[in-house]
Amino acid sequence: MTNNNLIDDCIFCKIIRGEIPSHKIAETDKACAFLDINPISEGHCLVIPKYHGEFFHQIPDDYLADILPLARKVALASGLDEAQYNLLQNNGPMAHQVVPHVHFHIIPKPRKEEGLIVGWPMKEASQDKLKGTLNRIKEKL
Ligand code: 5GP
Ligand code: ZN
Repeated sequence: MTNNNLIDDCIFCKIIRGEIPSHKIAETDKACAFLDINPISEGHCLVIPKYHGEFFHQIPDDYLADILPLARKVALASGLDEAQYNLLQNNGPMAHQVVPHVHFHIIPKPRKEEGLIVGWPMKEASQDKLKGTLNRIKEKL
C-alpha cells in the first residue's frame, strides 16, 4: 500500500517501506517498532510514526495515537514491566536528534552504568517565575 506521508530521502521512511532492512518487532497502520541498529543497551528499540515529520509537534494526532500503545506493547514484550527503562524522544540536533524522522526510543536500564545517561541541570524557580511561565503557555492553548 502506498503511503503518501513518507518521503524518498529518509532512512526511517525507507525502513517503513521495507526498502532497507530492519529488525521489525511490530507495526500498526500508523506506527512501526524496530530494534535500534546501535543499541545503547540490549533491547533498545524505536517506535516511529508512518508519517514523515522531523518534530513531534508536526505529527498528526491519529499517528501519535498509535505510538504509545505500541511502545507499551513492546515494553511489556521486552520484559520491561519487571525492569527499568527510559522512553525518550529528541527534537532537534541540539536536543540530540540525529535522524530527522520522529522516533521514540525505548531504552532498557539494566544497571546504573548501562542504558541512557541523563544530565538533569535543575534550577530553583520562584512562584512568580512559575506563574509567568504558566500564563505564557495557557494563553496560547
Ligand atoms: P536520535 O539521536 O535521532 O534520537 O536517534 C537516532 C537513532 O536511530 C540512533 O539510536 C541510531 O542508532 C538509530 N539509527 C540510525 N540509523 C538507523 C538505521 O538505519 N536502522 C536502525 N534500526 N536504527 C538506526
Ligand atoms: Zn521519514
